[in-house]
Amino acid sequence: MNIYNTLSRKIEKFIPNEEGKVKMYTCGPTVYHYAHIGNLRNYIMEDILEKSLNYLGYKVDRVMNITDVGHLSSDSDSGEDKMLKGAKREKKSVLEIADFYTEAFFKDCQKLNIKKPDKVVKATSCIDEYIKIIEGLLKKEYAYISNGNVYFDTTKLNDYYVLTNHKEDEMVVGVRNGVEEDQNKKNQADFVLWFTKSKFEDQELKWNSPWGLGYPGWHIECSGIALKYLGEYLDIHCGGVDNIFPHHTNEIAQSESYLGHKWCNYWVHNEHLNDKTGKMSKSKGEFLTISLLEEKGINPLAYRYFCLQSHYRKTLLFTFEALEKAQNTYNKLKNKIANLKIDNNEQLEENIIEKYKEQFKKAIENDMNTSLMLTTLYDVLKENTNNKTKIKIIEILDEVLSLDLLKKEKIDQELLLKINELIEKRNIAKQNKNYEEADKIRNELEKMHVIIKDTREKTIFEIR
Ligand code: AMP
Ligand code: ZN
Repeated sequence: MNIYNTLSRKIEKFIPNEEGKVKMYTCGPTVYHYAHIGNLRNYIMEDILEKSLNYLGYKVDRVMNITDVGHLSSDSDSGEDKMLKGAKREKKSVLEIADFYTEAFFKDCQKLNIKKPDKVVKATSCIDEYIKIIEGLLKKEYAYISNGNVYFDTTKLNDYYVLTNHKEDEMVVGVRNGVEEDQNKKNQADFVLWFTKSKFEDQELKWNSPWGLGYPGWHIECSGIALKYLGEYLDIHCGGVDNIFPHHTNEIAQSESYLGHKWCNYWVHNEHLNDKTGKMSKSKGEFLTISLLEEKGINPLAYRYFCLQSHYRKTLLFTFEALEKAQNTYNKLKNKIANLKIDNNEQLEENIIEKYKEQFKKAIENDMNTSLMLTTLYDVLKENTNNKTKIKIIEILDEVLSLDLLKKEKIDQELLLKINELIEKRNIAKQNKNYEEADKIRNELEKMHVIIKDTREKTIFEIR
């Protein structure tokens, strides 16, 4: 597989440390609110990556964290603590907030056919691990204590900005939004590993540590969890592009300084979903969630399809028109597949199956080109072969795409009765030449996503 590596800024051939096995770490959600559909684009792409690696025959060992402590909106002792902010907003405890939004997150994932990673680890469950790493960093003098907090000393590294072309002077206070000067730091770029003194004196979750009662910085959590559950060598680390700096840059700094060797070989970053005003974010008041899409009659899997139409390294512009267009295309595709009727005498054409498995593999190997993966599907539908073969291929491809392409929607009996009743009423109206009434009923059915067609024998319908 060829994949773009942020570390080398090149598309590279993917070679895992251990043949046939992939150790993959993906940064998880901060559970202080619902995920917005931009966040979910990131998890859809990571899901496709994991399933693509499985398709290529790799065994993937994947870990994801749940940030339920100490994610500040900036990385010095500044910004706001997101978990605390969520708890205050809803007048609940931090842990109640974390539990509620963790569950909500996985419900959204389920609707989008995003597989839950094998290991999902709460940040609050690995405090001992962070303490161990911080002690190691202090011993090696990569870290220092200042006014009760422990900081990582970025000047101890030859190249701190391995993932970016960041210049330190670009980070001067006031230039980057939300950066306030932290007087305790020796250098501008240093970051907190452990807080005992912070402006958030009302922090609910605190633990004993060699440096006093306190809590971990945000970055140490991912290093700690990855090292604990995946060992000293990682193959792939993923996240959204906004994680490149400072989060992933800091993860590399602290992990490699602690370990004394290179930690992760491939850094894969997903571009953002933007709306017309720019990057989607939760601080902008009302934000787009999966439930909101559903309320507007959009199937979450149509959103998955919408994401797959574009490449993970391109920003994707969200509009309702574009999403509705994707939903129509998705529905048409599902209908085409639903109309593939199998004749029992049909035999599977193995050479055709192999041909499309290969075509799909090439799309994956081409820097995970999801739109080419979708093209393969359309090519299958056009292929000159029997329906049994087509369905078999679609089943194989859908293991990666996860668009429920072969799942027949269960029609609720009550809905069926209602549809038949309306069709009957419309036929009577037509017989009575009351075309206005007949059109009104047709519109009513359309609002229910029911499309009717008059054939010579009877009126048939389709649910879209
Ligand atoms: P958070 O819960 O804020 O830590 O974000 C979860 C994930 O969503 C991170 O990997 C972010 O990089 C990613 N993310 C945040 N905003 C967007 C966006 N507008 N589009 C795509 N991914 C995003
Ligand atoms: Zn992380």
